[in-house]
Amino acid sequence: MALPVAAPPPANVPSRPANEDGLVPILMYHRTGPVEKYMVRSEANFKEDLARLYASGFRPVTLAEYVSRKMPLKPGESPVVLTFDDSAVSQFRLLKDGTVDPKCFVGLWLAFARKRPDFPVRATFFVNPNGPFEQHGLGAKKVRMLLGWGSEIAWHSRTHVDLSKVSDSRVKSELAYGFEYLADFGVKPKTFALPYGALPKNRALLRGFDWGGRRIQFEAIALAGSAPMPSPLRHPRLGAVQRIQAYSGPYGVDYWLNRFAHGKRAQYVQGPTDRG
Ligand SMILES: [Zn+2]
Repeated sequence: MALPVAAPPPANVPSRPANEDGLVPILMYHRTGPVEKYMVRSEANFKEDLARLYASGFRPVTLAEYVSRKMPLKPGESPVVLTFDDSAVSQFRLLKDGTVDPKCFVGLWLAFARKRPDFPVRATFFVNPNGPFEQHGLGAKKVRMLLGWGSEIAWHSRTHVDLSKVSDSRVKSELAYGFEYLADFGVKPKTFALPYGALPKNRALLRGFDWGGRRIQFEAIALAGSAPMPSPLRHPRLGAVQRIQAYSGPYGVDYWLNRFAHGKRAQYVQGPTDRG
């Protein structure tokens, strides 16, 4: 496996010139473990991702913050969205004593954020009804902790079915169930990630529909993909967003961070934030 190029030295972030037309990487993670493999970002590579993002001036925002153009950034900072699909336990595991497993994504990130408080655990978690996060009875506690750190709890379908292969009514029930399931956690989901990145035959359903007397609508639909997104100022609301796979293969996170580091692509840089 090719190693990423060395991370650049920490930029003097507050003094970086604004570029609100620059790009925003939206990264897609699934599981972590000791060894990198398909759908698994290794613990070491995840730590490296955080370090490289930080050194390149990126600071985390949620997908809902990106699409609503309400990113909590200071001048000179660049947004990055880390997204996590499937609410696997390796994303967020609590140990028997109630502490966060230091080897799950959240544990690795918390350790990083202790030294870098301006890089908090602020991410978008596209969850399935599996706890969430696969530990019986601990889902509500984890959701509270994530929300407390500024993360977003979002929806990823009821049964993880390929939406391109099912009826309209099944698509509706897969999306609508998120509002029911997450209501128990006090969450109204704002964004949705397509299982396998597969679009339903009736794409209009993604723009919203009525279901049992209520409106089911998301502010953004997350796809798979291979490139960064435009500035939120150039991206229409209620749009589809493309994501970058968090792996070391073609057009993955290493590739794009190298492109930014080498000046082949320009990243969004926040300008003055006191413009009323
Ligand atoms: Zn998934």
